Amino acid sequence: MNEENKTHSKGEAVPEAGIYVCVPCGFKKEYQEDEKFGECTSCLAGTSEGSDEYAEGLELWEKLNEKHLNKEE
Ligand SMILES: [Zn+2]
Repeated sequence: MNEENKTHSKGEAVPEAGIYVCVPCGFKKEYQEDEKFGECTSCLAGTSEGSDEYAEGLELWEKLNEKHLNKEE
């Protein structure tokens, strides 16, 4: 529905600076533009240690929009 909610996989370049959420566990991490997405340091998604369902290569980072941020404060 909303294109801003598309997810990004490990190794992909960050399209836009902001807070991104790990889809499987909800861990939040801030990325700067032109950085590369990495694995999740919380649930280890994106590594061989993580869940099989979120092994390397799957999209796991979702951009957190500002509406969400305001809600949490
Ligand atoms: Zn995670």
